[in-house]
Amino acid sequence: NSPAAPAKPRISVIGTGYLGTTHAVCMAELGYDVIGLDVDAAKLDLLRAGTVPFFEPGLPELLTKVQGGGRLRFTDSYAEIAQFADVHFVCVGTPQRKGELAADLQYVEAAFSSLAPHLDRKVLVVGKSTVPAGTAVRMEQLLASQAPCKDVELAWNPEFLREGFAVQDTLHPDRLVLGVRTEWAEQQLRAVFAPMIESGTPVVLTDFATAELVKVAANSFLATKISFINAMAEVCEATGADVTKLAEAIGHDARIGRRFLNAGLGFGGGCLPKDIRAFIARAQELGVDQAVSFLHQVDAINLRRRARVVDLGQELLDGSWTDRRVAVLGAAFKPDSDDIRDSPALDVAAAIGRRGANVLVYDPQALDNARQLYPDLQYAASAEDAVRDADLVMLLTEWREFRDMSPERIGTLVRRRNIVDGRNVLDPAQWRAAGWVYRALGRQ
Ligand code: NAD
Repeated sequence: NSPAAPAKPRISVIGTGYLGTTHAVCMAELGYDVIGLDVDAAKLDLLRAGTVPFFEPGLPELLTKVQGGGRLRFTDSYAEIAQFADVHFVCVGTPQRKGELAADLQYVEAAFSSLAPHLDRKVLVVGKSTVPAGTAVRMEQLLASQAPCKDVELAWNPEFLREGFAVQDTLHPDRLVLGVRTEWAEQQLRAVFAPMIESGTPVVLTDFATAELVKVAANSFLATKISFINAMAEVCEATGADVTKLAEAIGHDARIGRRFLNAGLGFGGGCLPKDIRAFIARAQELGVDQAVSFLHQVDAINLRRRARVVDLGQELLDGSWTDRRVAVLGAAFKPDSDDIRDSPALDVAAAIGRRGANVLVYDPQALDNARQLYPDLQYAASAEDAVRDADLVMLLTEWREFRDMSPERIGTLVRRRNIVDGRNVLDPAQWRAAGWVYRALGRQ
């Protein structure tokens, strides 16, 4: 005799990072009353003042709008959100554990342990964080043992948003995956996501383990596709073939598809690398490590591209980095983001810095984050400042601003016209015509 889903459930979002802030703002945009909770006081101060603490196109405007409408506020009090909300979304981080492949679940455990003792009426707790299969069952047991109300239910609802497209992906997802135990939990989630479901978003209804696995399977597939084309790039380099033509040609096959077939410096960020590693670790625990052993190769191919870019640069500098001025264009792990977690660009910048180069890094959005993680690198205020007097320019994150650079204009600023296009986004003919020595991954 469970209560029916409230017509307009009140929502809390626990963990207001990239995922949680976006989710909280978008839920408020859908018309819900929302509270976001975090343990990071500085982040809460920024959010309360209407500032999104990271770069995400469209999100600041939406935050201002929903805050102005009084539909979103922020707190650090678990007691407050427990009293307020009917549905709690857990969006805390699950980074890679230091020195191991496995995911660090301490933040998920802390969030559930902090919330549970305050739950004195039937509510739904929804895990959104990316977690190893089996975590939901453990969190369900935690709720059962620590929540005063014995009817609290759990659901798992993995998130697929892409940084840079987070608002669009949250409001118009490709699909909703609802991992639930009961019809009641399903009803609550269908009520929350009603605007998306009514506009045709497919719903995949499933159990906890499948919901958890869907997310890591999706990321494993995407990582594999990138590493596949990068493996082909290695073969192209050995044969004189051109991987960009190869990708175009195989991409015309609808069974393969062109997307995620961009050969280059490979993937990074706060999701793909740690998710495939956590998957390997979990598969080992489950005794099915052979099933995902290919992911070791996916990871290794990906990391080899970083070393290859360093080699390409060194060839252009006649074998030595010592005291050479190198402009690194890009610090974020991908364009339209300020996220530098496991950034290939910064990894390469640090590697050539260690080899004795004078590296100057520029990125349109990620410099503050980069400075914190790599205080020993030098940073420039603009792309033009970065390339001035450079012996080598390395394009390592494909921001629009870099794709649109004029080889003639940049050519007047540098000392030597050497460029490594680490993302295969420039037109080699155009750059060579302007007198540049152009090198890229997987092509001559
Ligand atoms: P993040 O590091 O940006 O945010 C995590 C937030 O949780 C931080 O603000 C942190 O202060 C807060 N936090 C930590 N412990 C807490 C606690 N006990 N109580 C309340 N808040 C706490 O991480 P993120 O990128 O938003 O990722 C969160 C989860 O979402 C991860 O599992 C990630 O794999 C998954 N995910 C992320 C994305 C993405 O694009 N960033 C996409 C899909 C899924």
